[in-house]
Amino acid sequence: MAILSQFVRPASLDEAIRLLNEAGGSAAILGGGTALVGMLEMRARPELETVIDLRMLQLDRLRMDGERLVVGAMVTLTDMIAHPVAGALASGVLVQAARGEGPINLRNAATIGGVVALGEADSEVYAALLALDAAVTMYTRRQTVETVPLRDLQVVDGVITEIAVPLQAARGAIARVARTPSDRPIVAAVAIVAGASKTVALCGVAPKPILLGQLLAPIGDFKGSVEYRYEMAPVVAQRALEAAHRSVIICRSRPRHQSLHRRARLWTSTTGLFGC
Ligand SMILES: Cc1cc2nc3c(=O)[nH]c(=O)nc-3n(C[C@H](O)[C@H](O)[C@H](O)COP(=O)(O)OP(=O)(O)OC[C@H]3O[C@@H](n4cnc5c(N)ncnc54)[C@H](O)[C@@H]3O)c2cc1C
Repeated sequence: MAILSQFVRPASLDEAIRLLNEAGGSAAILGGGTALVGMLEMRARPELETVIDLRMLQLDRLRMDGERLVVGAMVTLTDMIAHPVAGALASGVLVQAARGEGPINLRNAATIGGVVALGEADSEVYAALLALDAAVTMYTRRQTVETVPLRDLQVVDGVITEIAVPLQAARGAIARVARTPSDRPIVAAVAIVAGASKTVALCGVAPKPILLGQLLAPIGDFKGSVEYRYEMAPVVAQRALEAAHRSVIICRSRPRHQSLHRRARLWTSTTGLFGC
């Protein structure tokens, strides 16, 4: 384990940014810790001396804001998909994506802010947020609030505070190739169809998830070669689009939250897309 000199739990965003700025490059934000703690244990971030825990900042709320669902950066994947609106969005696509992110103990800790900050190449949650046209709000190191579409996000410069997802009557589906159904994908596609508009995001074909049409730059590894990833990208994109057309729109105005969430779960467990 890396030797930290400070573990701090700021009471405000201003304090978090002050600590981040004072530490220069030797501080990291702590979300759920599922990735960061591993990095510290493996000494993969030897420069880190300070960890800034965001748990006091009340960033763990989901709220409706007009036609957007706003998810606080510290909302765990488990809590996000248990939310009736988030769980029902685009035929329950976030539920399926979160299950691809890792097992339940990981989902109970991993936060949506951590997923976005990390931008792992094979993150289906990140790809789903891209396809849903999510926007990311950050409190920057210059103490400004900035909101950028996830598709334009280059670097995280400060603290991610929330992710907003537009609410639309859309259908969605995920198609993936993986070594086993419970594995992270080698290549996966998330398709969202809203009326005549179709959006597909891909993961496993570039250093971080991308939208279909952007440059593929796959990195080969023990799970799949560069050539295989190039071959599979159009295949999973097509499968995801076809599945999205077949999927149901889950009505978010249904009064009983439990019933909405159950329907989202039912959909994801009956489409048979896992491991296809
Ligand atoms: C054994 C294991 C293997 C895994 N393998 C993979 C994998 O291959 N691919 C994959 O996608 N996921 C993987 N994960 C899952 C990954 O850890 C989670 O999906 C998630 O990305 C991390 O969320 P977190 O909240 O735990 O982030 P943390 O571990 O707390 O932080 C991750 C990074 O994001 C930064 N960060 C966190 N929150 C914020 C914020 N609000 N603002 C700014 N920066 C922030 C941190 O400083 C850190 O650099 C793995 C997890 C485990 C336990």
